[in-house]
Amino acid sequence: MRKPYVAGNWKMNLSRTEAAALATGIVQGINCDDIDIGVAPPSVYLSAVIDAVEGTGVHVAAQNCHFEPKGAFTGELSPAMLLDVGCDTVIIGHSERRHIFGETDDLINKKVKAALAAGLKVILCIGETLDEREAGQTNDVCRRHIGEGLNGVTAEQMADVVIAYEPVWAIGTGRTATPEQAQEVHAFVRPLVASTFNTDIAAALRIQYGGSVNAENALDLMSQPDIDGALVGGASLKVESFLKIIEETRKAKAPA
Ligand code: PEP
Repeated sequence: MRKPYVAGNWKMNLSRTEAAALATGIVQGINCDDIDIGVAPPSVYLSAVIDAVEGTGVHVAAQNCHFEPKGAFTGELSPAMLLDVGCDTVIIGHSERRHIFGETDDLINKKVKAALAAGLKVILCIGETLDEREAGQTNDVCRRHIGEGLNGVTAEQMADVVIAYEPVWAIGTGRTATPEQAQEVHAFVRPLVASTFNTDIAAALRIQYGGSVNAENALDLMSQPDIDGALVGGASLKVESFLKIIEETRKAKAPA
């Protein structure tokens, strides 16, 4: 059984007060016994959020990191710095990083390896654009994102990796992949990981779906067998909708 995992990506939103209030509201409504929960605030609010969730088991993730441990890299944060403030996870390869900031698979791979080596857990985002989907390239893109993103990662380190399948056309657009479309890609990714590593690692790997997940569509998406949770953007910015997505995920994954 894979423990489901719902994480909220707050992107470049909220004030310090709002971020702390959102974190406080989330932890009041949850327990993490049968589900992993994570939040990814803007990096300047990491400390405030870490204080707000202390002792609850909620994972706090950065939205990005650099691959070098230190040095003349103005504006960047190293994995060690994130660990130092109390972060345990980093999101790498989000489509906004790939498509707005031009991050390549090679750069993403360097970040993944540096983050894991430093002791962070990684949520590696993969997924195709609309043009790529319409050209029938969804599987090729995911194969490339997985193959290059995880190149050089050891079997042991895979225990600290979560994959988030996030079709770019569904992120922030209100246009969600159907449960069947999402399941199809998740079911493609798992054997791909098995062939790169082994079947045990693939069976244990959590693969989140992300792309306009909300309180209304979460149950159907999370009911798919290879969807192990969600990476949520917009709907993670309100306590009520994020808690509802967590509840729907718990319901979908409860043993029959
Ligand atoms: C995301 O940013 O990872 C995301 C899935 O955003 P949204 O839920 O708003 O589509």
